[in-house]
Amino acid sequence: MLVDSHCHLDFPELRADLPALLERMAGNGVSHALTISTTLSGFPGVREVAQAHPNLWCTAGVHPDERRDGREATVEELVELAGHPKVVAIGETGLDYFRVEGDTGWQRERFRVHIRAARACAKPLVIHTRESAADTLRILEEEGAAEVGGVMHCFTESAEVAQAAMRLGFLISFSGIVTFKNARDLKEVARLVPLDRMLVETDAPYLAPVPHRGRTNEPSFVRHVAEEIARLKDVSVDAVARATTENFFGLFRDARPRG
Ligand SMILES: [Zn+2]
Ligand SMILES: [Zn+2]
Repeated sequence: MLVDSHCHLDFPELRADLPALLERMAGNGVSHALTISTTLSGFPGVREVAQAHPNLWCTAGVHPDERRDGREATVEELVELAGHPKVVAIGETGLDYFRVEGDTGWQRERFRVHIRAARACAKPLVIHTRESAADTLRILEEEGAAEVGGVMHCFTESAEVAQAAMRLGFLISFSGIVTFKNARDLKEVARLVPLDRMLVETDAPYLAPVPHRGRTNEPSFVRHVAEEIARLKDVSVDAVARATTENFFGLFRDARPRG
């Protein structure tokens, strides 16, 4: 049993194919998935997908480089959205200096608002960081994010950044990138991160793992991520599946099966 800890099932290319996609998940032993919010305007669609399926949950938040809402979310608003029983985390939030040029102060402010919301509703954070690791870690620390913890999703940073994030109580999530032949440094990081501190994800519809590279990604492909990590750490796929599933339900406590 595997869990895809990060995907975007509300995106049109996946949502259009949802029944078949859920069947392929089951067929590949992927029992659960967390579908991630990226805009305020898109949140109702994300929630709807999660609400319609007992093995899906969702987050509430605005992606660091999204500008489609045309305004900023407030702490109160995020807390209110997170009050829905299917919402188990705040995000994806963080910093992305790769895609945004010029002044990035608004990104840092948006990030702080998300951390404050997560603390206010006691839910973990889903963090996106790209070419901004130092600022991401600094703001997590300044805002007391360790109180709620979370996950560094689609991790592509160095071993040092992974260590610093783990010291703050964050898990490290590996995506299909770890299966790419040229991802030598990241494979090394995957060897170093202990099994009890990691998650696996697809970030579907993007970043399909080998052997599906270049195609539309989907949650069932998270199996290939787990297989590569098992190979790198010289453990069984079963051990990776067991650990990452346990870590998922340990972090996202509101996703725990009830009754
Ligand atoms: Zn992301
Ligand atoms: Zn994402």
